[in-house]
Amino acid sequence: MTGGGVAPVTGVEARTDGSAAAWTDRYGRSLMNTFGTPRRVLVRGEGVHVWDADGNRYLDLLAGIAVNALGHAHPTLTAAVSAQLGTLGHVSNFFATPTQVALAERLVQLGGGDATSRVFFTNSGTEANEAAFKIARRTGRPRVLCLEGGFHGRTMGALAMTSKTAYRAPFEPLPGGVEFLSFGDVDALERAIGPDVAAVVLEAVQGEAGVRPLPPGYLAAARRLTRDHGALLVADEVQTGIGRTGHWLAHQDDELGGGARPDVVTLAKGLGGGFPIGAVLTHGEHVSSLLGPGQHGTTFGGNPVAAAAGLATLGVIERDGVLDHVRRTGRWLTEALAALPVVAEVRARGLLVAVELAGRPSAEVADLALEAGFIVNPVTPTALRLAPPLVVTTEQLSPFVEFLAGLGAGGAPTVTPEA
Ligand SMILES: *Cc1c(COP(=O)(O)O)cnc(C)c1O
Repeated sequence: MTGGGVAPVTGVEARTDGSAAAWTDRYGRSLMNTFGTPRRVLVRGEGVHVWDADGNRYLDLLAGIAVNALGHAHPTLTAAVSAQLGTLGHVSNFFATPTQVALAERLVQLGGGDATSRVFFTNSGTEANEAAFKIARRTGRPRVLCLEGGFHGRTMGALAMTSKTAYRAPFEPLPGGVEFLSFGDVDALERAIGPDVAAVVLEAVQGEAGVRPLPPGYLAAARRLTRDHGALLVADEVQTGIGRTGHWLAHQDDELGGGARPDVVTLAKGLGGGFPIGAVLTHGEHVSSLLGPGQHGTTFGGNPVAAAAGLATLGVIERDGVLDHVRRTGRWLTEALAALPVVAEVRARGLLVAVELAGRPSAEVADLALEAGFIVNPVTPTALRLAPPLVVTTEQLSPFVEFLAGLGAGGAPTVTPEA
């Protein structure tokens, strides 16, 4: 519900009976059909829960696709955004704001940067990767190496680096020079890399491919090979960054990164705690200066309200020991899920979790879960993705574990969709 003084302006309360069915009907008549029919119409959130237009409550185990790091309506985030918007909401990049500078400094610090590190702010993950792609082009080298299964976004450049044919095919020709290497195969990378390679672009954990961590040693090998051949190592941490894996950045997890620091890191999803913001973080004088004056730009990127959201999100993660909490809670959840008969395998890093189901289509289980009050995402035909708010507790997660336990092993469900 919006406040009484605002509703007449926004029109949200007008022309409807307010039911989910009425809103879904209006959605279908007014929004482009790119996402299919929305699963529910959500009107309110608090902590790890959201409520739909019909008054039902859900445990949000997706968090807007790994975005709502602090859950919904977190008081610190709400206050920071409101205060900034009430002070100075937007200025364009002809001007600087203290909020923007403070967030850039904070990102350099958590990314293990130094005096040669720099930040470029965007509004989304795909824009962050688009900027990284332009940085790669500025090396003057023609080839960009990406991994099969990788997802980097939907704008043309980010899409060119995304391997999924169904996403690419309708939009060809895409920007050229991109090649896809088999996932986690160091030999393939060693064969492909050379003096004409601008960048190797990868995710430490492939999120959209179903939470697939790179095999141990791959990132370190990619770091060594890119350094040897003068190519950039670009880590897309849009989904894995900002605490999702229990580290500020996934490649800082020793098991994944082995101490390797990429040249370019892209961020978005969790960074604003739900407010749209993305960022590109570069390390090294030669990398940080590849985009010079006039070579890239954005109207909204670096917006102080978005930056305030970023600072508040990072501040709460630090103040409340959230990284540690994510590691502990993720371990608990992984063990609890792995013990269930309906679960064949759990792939997880912190609170980025894929549950591989034993003989049950993930879409069917996701439907049952929704009916039972749990929002999960069938990320592949056989796996559910869980990416709850980073602040979720084991007590809050337990009902979902019990729900999955009640499904048994691949047989008839004990919970029926429509009783
Ligand atoms: C979501 C995602 C993107 C795209 O981010 P948008 O904000 O949707 O544009 C890029 N890379 C990865 C790894 C992602 O998970």
